[in-house]
Amino acid sequence: MALNVVATTKPIPEPDEASQPFFDGARAGKLMLMRCAECGEFRMPARMHCDACLATATEWVEASGRGTVRTFGVMHQKYHAGFLEETPYNLAVVELEEGPRLVTNIVETANAAIAVGMPVTVAFTDYEDVSLPKFRPA
Ligand SMILES: [Zn+2]
Repeated sequence: MALNVVATTKPIPEPDEASQPFFDGARAGKLMLMRCAECGEFRMPARMHCDACLATATEWVEASGRGTVRTFGVMHQKYHAGFLEETPYNLAVVELEEGPRLVTNIVETANAAIAVGMPVTVAFTDYEDVSLPKFRPA
């Protein structure tokens, strides 16, 4: 899959040992979720111990990529130079069909068209070092 790399000066997340499979999946266009191999509880964000049973055993599963907007806001303040060109921009919490919630952006629609409860589907944005899951209206 050819990447359409977007240049940015925004602060971009750096994968760590626990989250590397999430970012590897994102680079391949897959939304990966860490799940406890003992009790099945999802861990979002990825971490070494399960909040439900304290087990360290994990497995990674591919999410459907479908979810709904749980809440959102539109940022008008310019807190970082990397966001100047797209201010006002939205921040949203998307609840995945599988249950975990992601802080993300809604793309490919106007901020005024975003609504709580809106069905969305994952759409990755590829930056130089990582790809990030964002969501578009379904
Ligand atoms: Zn567990």
